[in-house]
Amino acid sequence: MRYVSTRGGGQPQTFTQILLEGLAPDGGLFVPEAYPHFTPAELAAMRRWSYPELAYAVLSRFADDLPPADLKALVEKTYTAKAFRSDAIAPLRTLEPGVHILGLSYGPTLAFKDMAMQFLGNLFEYVLAKNGRHLNILGATSGDTGSSAEYAMRGKSNIRVFMLSPHGRMSPFQTAQMFSLADPNIFNIAVRGVFDDCQDIVKEVGADADFKAKHSIGTVNSINWARVAAQVVYYFKGYFAAIEADGLKDGSPVSFSVPSGNFGNICAGWIAKQMGLPVRRLILATNENNMLDEFFRTGVYRPRKGAEVFATTSPSMDISKASNFERYAWDLVGQDPVRVRELWKKLDTEGQFDLSSSAYWKKVDDTGFVSDFSTHATRLDTIRRVWRDYQVMIDTHTADGVKVGLDYRETGVPLVCLETALPVKFAETIREALGLDPERPAGFENIESLPQRFEVMDADTGAVKRFVESHTA
Ligand SMILES: *Cc1c(COP(=O)(O)O)cnc(C)c1O
Repeated sequence: MRYVSTRGGGQPQTFTQILLEGLAPDGGLFVPEAYPHFTPAELAAMRRWSYPELAYAVLSRFADDLPPADLKALVEKTYTAKAFRSDAIAPLRTLEPGVHILGLSYGPTLAFKDMAMQFLGNLFEYVLAKNGRHLNILGATSGDTGSSAEYAMRGKSNIRVFMLSPHGRMSPFQTAQMFSLADPNIFNIAVRGVFDDCQDIVKEVGADADFKAKHSIGTVNSINWARVAAQVVYYFKGYFAAIEADGLKDGSPVSFSVPSGNFGNICAGWIAKQMGLPVRRLILATNENNMLDEFFRTGVYRPRKGAEVFATTSPSMDISKASNFERYAWDLVGQDPVRVRELWKKLDTEGQFDLSSSAYWKKVDDTGFVSDFSTHATRLDTIRRVWRDYQVMIDTHTADGVKVGLDYRETGVPLVCLETALPVKFAETIREALGLDPERPAGFENIESLPQRFEVMDADTGAVKRFVESHTA
């Protein structure tokens, strides 16, 4: 399996070669030259496989330059009942026949990003050791990504993490999760500013090629191909668990509803569908920051300016552009890099592109995507409704997905709603909806009272560089 850039630059590369890369050198995203495919007979045989078995089956198609025994060991080391709180790893809960919630939030930081990031931690450590290299990960977070990266990389050999976050702007729970880590390879930098300031610093450091090379700077943002690949696995798991739960025959179609921001999660669903998994609808749910919903309704893709982004009660979906969207666009335009370059040039010059009058627009229907958005009011209503009707407490992001999922549900087709975080992470809004405190999973009882370790800094790229310099060997 070789990987190419959506914008056509460079030579095809292997999985390991692109593993530690962010954007392709030409500014595009890495995609497989062709998607691997499972036949109906192969899928039928996988119906009752465990999560690590499914992970190996899927990932061995993408990471075919790793020795199979090593990949198997990495997968088994990652997807354990200890790390994910049950043998199911991603347990399916049935609300009523035909409506299910796939639990993707039982990893160490209680959000779905752990599903891929935990694997990345082990994979990075393995590849760095093999090549005698080290890596300094520099990132910016407004909450979930940063903690997920830190918990994946803590204590790993040859890896350090420098994570910027806006000082005093994360929830107390999220702050405690990150800042209470005592591992010497984790550095929390609280920037006096907002998330965009943190992001700008990371971009500026990344643009300094000398500094980047000298200090082996890397990232783990949502465009990393290995993250997307690892997320494909749970669509397989959710699919099989749903047809089992509903007593359906092999090959029956299933729809997924996905709370979406950067388009990383649902992009994995799109890839699973192209690998032959019988996915019917991919139901995309946004919050008030609805640029993706706008695209799927009108054909216009218009990233927002920082100041246009609303701060919502599903904050992990508050984004100004959907970084992974280019992977879907690549497929939509028939994997033609010339077309992708044209579209992204338009974004640069005009701030948007419009596919509504092109031949590609008709293809969108065939891809199975439908979309809608949720607001604070519908979010709270959905949390109440699921609690009242099923005695199940869902978080605010999951609620956006459940709201839209139920609206676009079809009779006879199981609906799997992806649970992207646990309610305890967003307790304030849960209290507003239900007048109740969400349950705290074991190990999180007193997290806010643990000692915290972090460095407060001005939004100054030079200061961040000096800090990284003085903390790398
Ligand atoms: C990151 C995140 C999302 C959005 O996922 P994307 O891959 O960015 O679309 C949704 N919910 C939660 C809780 C998240 O942390």
